[in-house]
Amino acid sequence: MRTREPLVDSYGRVHRDLRISVTDRCSLRCTYCMPEDGVPWLPRATMLTTEEIVRLADVAVSMGIEEIRLTGGEPLLRRDLVDVVGGLAGLDPAPEISMTTNAVGLAKNAAALRDAGMTRVNVSLDTLRRDVFITLAKRDRLADTLAGIRAAADAGLVPVKLNTVLMRDINDAEADVVGLLDFALEHGYELRFIEQMPLDAQHGWDRSQMISGEEILDKLRSGHELTPLPDEARGSAPAELFEVDGGPATVGVIASVTMPFCGSCDRVRLTADGMIRNCLFAAGETDLRTPLRDGASDDDLAALLRASITAKLPGHGINQPTFLQPPRPMSAIGG
Ligand code: SAM
Ligand code: SF4
Repeated sequence: MRTREPLVDSYGRVHRDLRISVTDRCSLRCTYCMPEDGVPWLPRATMLTTEEIVRLADVAVSMGIEEIRLTGGEPLLRRDLVDVVGGLAGLDPAPEISMTTNAVGLAKNAAALRDAGMTRVNVSLDTLRRDVFITLAKRDRLADTLAGIRAAADAGLVPVKLNTVLMRDINDAEADVVGLLDFALEHGYELRFIEQMPLDAQHGWDRSQMISGEEILDKLRSGHELTPLPDEARGSAPAELFEVDGGPATVGVIASVTMPFCGSCDRVRLTADGMIRNCLFAAGETDLRTPLRDGASDDDLAALLRASITAKLPGHGINQPTFLQPPRPMSAIGG
């Protein structure tokens, strides 16, 4: 085991969580993320191989990264995903490995991913209605997503967390929002609502249309009693948690726009083409792929990663008049 100094930025935030995007391709086209025709995909040759991902993760783990979340695009589209998980699980010290997924195709892979070392999953589920799913994600795959969620729970990839983004007049009807919570309560999944952020490839985000955390809570309160949990229950996690009907079940609201949590951010991202992004909204990124392929040492790569963290800004600035949406869409950054 090699240890380097932890990844602390100039505001004292210690970085322990690495999000690795393993592909920018996706099986769905959620309108808050991608246009129906997709986006220009990253050229295959620029995408990191399994060995390259594991090597960079090894450097990050030596700098105090404890959790690795695989994301995308849709990570299940990567054919060697089980090998990526196995390689990451073999690091010393072994990080906790999880995945954010739309769960299409998870039913046939959940057990293999668990056996390779994955411990849990976050699944995006925006509706329980097939017609709404098709309107929102432009593909008729709700049944696959639901089968994937069940398979994840059966394989012990728990707690299964469900992420929901509400879009006005599409999936925000009070009965549907409460219905999602009822579904989560019934099956023991942890539901969290995420405010829509300006990260769609189409640049169509409109603050006046966004469903805020407050509005989400009002809709949930039409069906359940919610009691806020103290901030300690949240730690560095972005979700503000509420006990449902006296607990112990909870529901979360991630109000990235109206109540930013940048002050406790402990995340750094590696894109599928080997760029470090110190924030979802960063204007710039640090290229690790070129030096890696040119023979850089682990110390060289660690120095580049540290420099990126040192340069991290205090916040995302969405609420500033000078805010500019990053050129990469969410699917190419890794949410
Ligand atoms: N394809 C996987 C999935 O959907 O879970 C992983 C990648 S996706 C980009 C990761 C998460 O980002 C999902 O929970 C998705 O709902 C969320 N997301 C995508 N675009 C978003 C946006 N504009 N605002 C808020 N969340 C967004
Ligand atoms: Fe694909 Fe996830 Fe984006 Fe939906 S949110 S289009 S599932 S990457």
